[in-house]
Amino acid sequence: MALRLFNTMSAQVDEFRPLRDNEVRMYACGPTVYDYGHIGNFRTFVAVDLLQRFLRQSGYQVRYVMNITDVDDKIIRNAARAGLSVQQYTAKYENAFLEDAAMIGIAQPKLVRATEHINEMAEFVAKLVAKGMAYRTDDGSYYFRIATFPQYGKLSKKDFSGMIDGARVDLDEYDKDSARDFALWKAPKPGEASWDTAIGPGRPGWHLECSVMSMKELGESFDLHAGGEDLVFPHHENEIAQSESLTGKPFAHFWFHARFLLVEGEKMSKSLGNFFTLRDLVLKGHKPSSLRYLLTSVPYRNQLNFTFDGLKQAAVSVERLRNFRLRLSAGSFPDGANPAMQSLASETAHRLRAALEDDLNTAQAQAAVFEMVRQANAAFDTSQIRQGDVAPLLAVLASFDEVFAVLDEDDIPKMKKVLDWATAEGREWDISAELREAVRSGQLSDADIEKKIDAMKAARTARDFKTSDVLRNELAAMGILVEITKDGIRWRRK
Ligand code: AMP
Ligand code: ZN
Repeated sequence: MALRLFNTMSAQVDEFRPLRDNEVRMYACGPTVYDYGHIGNFRTFVAVDLLQRFLRQSGYQVRYVMNITDVDDKIIRNAARAGLSVQQYTAKYENAFLEDAAMIGIAQPKLVRATEHINEMAEFVAKLVAKGMAYRTDDGSYYFRIATFPQYGKLSKKDFSGMIDGARVDLDEYDKDSARDFALWKAPKPGEASWDTAIGPGRPGWHLECSVMSMKELGESFDLHAGGEDLVFPHHENEIAQSESLTGKPFAHFWFHARFLLVEGEKMSKSLGNFFTLRDLVLKGHKPSSLRYLLTSVPYRNQLNFTFDGLKQAAVSVERLRNFRLRLSAGSFPDGANPAMQSLASETAHRLRAALEDDLNTAQAQAAVFEMVRQANAAFDTSQIRQGDVAPLLAVLASFDEVFAVLDEDDIPKMKKVLDWATAEGREWDISAELREAVRSGQLSDADIEKKIDAMKAARTARDFKTSDVLRNELAAMGILVEITKDGIRWRRK
């Protein structure tokens, strides 16, 4: 079977096949770096991460590009207010995004920045003007003339037949039901950042950024374009209009949209007090792996209602999987193999893949693994596990974790980083007793570390390199870097 995915363009679940051989070229709209990322953002980013991990696991070469929107209305306004350049203002939040993405297990896409492609964006506008699909207004702004693109609305399934030619809007986000000529390029306003280019001074509109960078990195037609559901209109509709008008070719083949996350049943908003960044949750003492597990537990097209109860349950689920893995890898069992465990492992591997191929049914995939854990734990308790069962059961967990990425025991060093960050920012009051306790009790003392290093030395003397590697990996997961040199073994905390 092949992967089947919902394609917003066809409005149905279609079989996913890359346009070119075995290579998948995909683009996700990334963060606008004017603040710390919230859990809604990470709902979408984790969904796309899971997709790209599964594609890799399925044997595809994946070229995954994500943009950093480091110039837009809000950024320019905030930077001007803070008396900083756009770059100074966004650098802090871009770094925070990279740290947060790593914290929640997002395997690094290739990142591209809008501010590094300004001239290409101006060229794109000039070409559209030459083709009669864009025009300049008196103030030096440029607009896309949507009347030249009769398919406008094909992604969002909106009927714009009554639209008024020449009606304009220059905001990046506008009324959901109006079709207006939208700004490709905005003339400079006093006190705001702008760039001098061949089409005059100004700055790009947000939609243009993604068209230019995705096609530069992935070609005029590529496989998949992703984002949260709010981006379908106008952002993605406008990307399609600009790109297809310029190239005359279909832009992205598949459109992948994650449903918006709610918090305790409501839309997340600062005024309701239900707005959480990833860091807010860690400050309250929650593990990053709990949030990743929770975000992946509801398939991306279903509405995820974030609750603190759900987050606690997710922590219990991750613990259960980690304990099971430990029980298997640390135990010693009689020789041989139990046919029931062998078929349990192969059936679970099959169910796992079938669930993910079914439009990334992550809930079914997790259920399959938990059923395996339940049955194998029962077999443990009645001494039914044989040494030959360990590898196949562990292989299923490893394959699950290639996609879900929650089993590494690396929460504590990540939580410590957040604690250190809050301290450096003067936000001690936001650090919960739970976070302090988790970091304190989760950290190995120097004496504990020395004990493990001694065990590594003993193992190496006995030429038991496997045990030495296991110990080294355990230490790495706890944030301890071990270096083996010809003079001995050294360690330091990450
Ligand atoms: P932004 O930084 O606002 O440009 O958003 C980055 C990504 O997060 C986009 O793909 C948005 O669609 C997505 N996003 C924003 N809020 C939510 C939410 N509550 N649930 C899911 N995705 C969201
Ligand atoms: Zn975009």
